[in-house]
Amino acid sequence: MKAIYWIRNDLRLHDNAALSLFCEQASEGVAVWCTSASFRRAGDRRKSFILQSVEEFASKLRMQGVPVIVANKCASELLPELASQLKIERIFVTEECSPEEMAEEAMVAEYREHFLTRVEQAALLRKEDLPFSISETPEVFTQFRLQVEKSLLVRDILPKPQRWPKAIKIPSLESIESSPLTATHPKISPGESAGLARVAEYIWERDRLRVYKETRNGMLHWDDSSKFSPWLSVGALSPREIYREIQRYESERCKNESTYWLFFELLWRDYFRFILEKKQASVFGRRPPLDERAIADFARWCNAETGDDFIDANMAELNSTGWLSNRGRQNVASYLAKEVNVPWQYGAEYFERMLLDYDVASNWGNWAYLAGVGQDPRNRKFNSARQAEIYDPEGEYRRKWLAR
Ligand SMILES: Cc1cc2nc3c(=O)[nH]c(=O)nc-3n(C[C@H](O)[C@H](O)[C@H](O)COP(=O)(O)OP(=O)(O)OC[C@H]3O[C@@H](n4cnc5c(N)ncnc54)[C@H](O)[C@@H]3O)c2cc1C
Repeated sequence: MKAIYWIRNDLRLHDNAALSLFCEQASEGVAVWCTSASFRRAGDRRKSFILQSVEEFASKLRMQGVPVIVANKCASELLPELASQLKIERIFVTEECSPEEMAEEAMVAEYREHFLTRVEQAALLRKEDLPFSISETPEVFTQFRLQVEKSLLVRDILPKPQRWPKAIKIPSLESIESSPLTATHPKISPGESAGLARVAEYIWERDRLRVYKETRNGMLHWDDSSKFSPWLSVGALSPREIYREIQRYESERCKNESTYWLFFELLWRDYFRFILEKKQASVFGRRPPLDERAIADFARWCNAETGDDFIDANMAELNSTGWLSNRGRQNVASYLAKEVNVPWQYGAEYFERMLLDYDVASNWGNWAYLAGVGQDPRNRKFNSARQAEIYDPEGEYRRKWLAR
């Protein structure tokens, strides 16, 4: 069978079910990466992180003889066109959960019956292994967690494919590779190899999993939290690979509250994914227009000029690196939505542009949660002065970022 492997947020050879199926079923094949609406909305730093991760993955596929197209076109435009030109019978792809991405899948699938094989693999847990259907996903995280933990099943990771399809001769297309690439983050190198190296470094070399629960709220030191999210967001890391390493660490080194807590946080990631799949467009809410006051407040927030030094330091870190700690994200989101009352969607869109680890479900789910319209029954507001006292008592974090 002639087939396309549609590369999406699954930029890895390890534990890649869509790629494995393509390799098993295709006799001849080609891999194609296309731009998406979210990619087009990304700022230069996130674009570069994605493109360089794609290039790293593409070079691994090419080494196995699979041709790769990195195209400057959206999938619904390019894939049916390529399919008819190359007489493609099937496309294999990792399924996504946002309305925009699902609409793209549906448009590609329309080309022919049984044309698109959608493979589920982005979350730690499989939907069929949950004790409820997606439409019954609990509205509160704790209920979700308690229910899934009762009958927990995390599938084993898949080995790298052993056989590869023969190359299909491909047409030359307008490629995106010539776009100028910006530096990403000094400590977040793009690609699967860097993602796996970070897992080894954080868990084994630095031995930080042992103390994760105590340090995860830190803002200043790189190893305060795992920093796995950028690689998870493009699928350069599989959540099951992380889970396997947590288990191995628990049996070889130590099992404690911290080792459980990293798993707990991966469950949050799954939760927001399942909630987005359940609630679809309603997660995003309706974005009202901004009046003059809100336009000015929003601009001050974006530019780290609110006058609140804790908020400004966090926005300065985000603007100059594409990274922000979870504590920082919670505070700046609460400030925008609840202190200066700018509709939270503007903040979520700004994060989509800026964050290296942008993930549609985690981003919009967390923003809605903090704005008090999502899955948080408590509707909390952060007091940034108090937060600064607790999480930056000596002012070291603020000095570092406000000095720039
Ligand atoms: C307003 C706001 C926006 C956010 N936007 C994103 C986003 O676009 N992409 C993203 O990956 N995360 C987002 N998060 C969640 C969280 O802040 C990041 O996942 C985390 O800071 C990444 O750092 P880490 O990998 O060191 O996390 P760790 O603390 O080491 O956690 C390990 C992993 O667990 C998952 N995780 C941890 N906390 C959360 C959470 N609250 N929600 C969902 N998953 C979580 C992530 O995959 C993370 O990599 C957002 C949080 C807030 C409050």
